Amino acid sequence: MSFDPTTLARAEIRSLKPYEHALWDPALIRLHANEAPWRPLADVSVVGLNRYPEPQPRALCARLAEVYGTTPDRLLVGRGSDEAIDLLTRAFCRAGEDAVLVCPPTFGMYAVAARIQGARVLEVPLLPDRGFALDMPRIEAALDASVKLIWLCSPNNPTGNLLDRGQVQQVIAAATGRALVAIDEAYIEFAPGHSCIEALPTAPHVAVLRTLSKAYGLAGARVGALVADPRIVALLRRIIPPYAMPQLSVEAALAVLDPALRSAAEARQADLVRARDALAQSLAALPTVVRVWPSAANFLLVEFNDADVAFRSLLGAGLLVRDVRSHVQLGRALRITVGSADQNQRVVASLA
Ligand SMILES: *Cc1c(COP(=O)(O)O)cnc(C)c1O
Repeated sequence: MSFDPTTLARAEIRSLKPYEHALWDPALIRLHANEAPWRPLADVSVVGLNRYPEPQPRALCARLAEVYGTTPDRLLVGRGSDEAIDLLTRAFCRAGEDAVLVCPPTFGMYAVAARIQGARVLEVPLLPDRGFALDMPRIEAALDASVKLIWLCSPNNPTGNLLDRGQVQQVIAAATGRALVAIDEAYIEFAPGHSCIEALPTAPHVAVLRTLSKAYGLAGARVGALVADPRIVALLRRIIPPYAMPQLSVEAALAVLDPALRSAAEARQADLVRARDALAQSLAALPTVVRVWPSAANFLLVEFNDADVAFRSLLGAGLLVRDVRSHVQLGRALRITVGSADQNQRVVASLA
């Protein structure tokens, strides 16, 4: 048997006796969970909102596993990848003792979840001079015994770049037996190349986060997945709240992932990638723009001569973009989500 990655988890979590939720068996009459016997009048669900949902909905887990090229025992479904970030932090970091390693500028939730848990946050900034690549020597030097979780975001938010596969492999190798490597692939559908899910069978200490929020247009339903070694998935199933996935979200996700709609969804993702590249070109041609960073996601990181003026011009035209100037190294940048053709035109027009 390969290295057991759950030996890195908190001892209390490994020995936790989980909450026993009511047996879930659709063949039996449910008089064991104190639910109402009738559906509410405005219930639009398929199976009835008067019933507690299935704890880890089997049909959805199976569908997601198929879409992500893995097996259901390696997949935990949760309320967005935000829930997976929280669960990993709570399961692996002891308050006041352990640390997470993050590479800013990056997604803020890794550090927020760590601080809520009372874990330290070690920062090893990305290298803007090398296209926001990982700083391998500093990452390896920072990996002491307190680091339990290493967060990599690829494509990275807010910089948009895909991390180099060889460097990711190097981090995974350096962390072997010492820390978990969590790779957040919220935008991978917009990127060329492959998901790190492929690497999982040979790397038990790696977890990959995916979401339906971005490429599948389902941010409002809050559906995300963690894909990892079955022992990590089993451990996290013990601490996820008992009925985490709302029935309406499960049904919405199953509808969106219907195999018959799959190619249409992929065509939309490809359209968005073309729109992104066209928008990047138009923005790069504007005199107020210093640089448009290459993007493998559905947004662009744009550096302006005067980001304040740009932000206010956009706002004046009714367009809200993300001001990322508080991030290290991004003093003059805004993050602009690729919208519809009309919206993208308005962005360019209001900056021209
Ligand atoms: C949007 C985003 C998420 C959050 O995804 P949810 O599944 O909606 O919780 C996670 N990671 C990154 C990097 C994101 O940009």
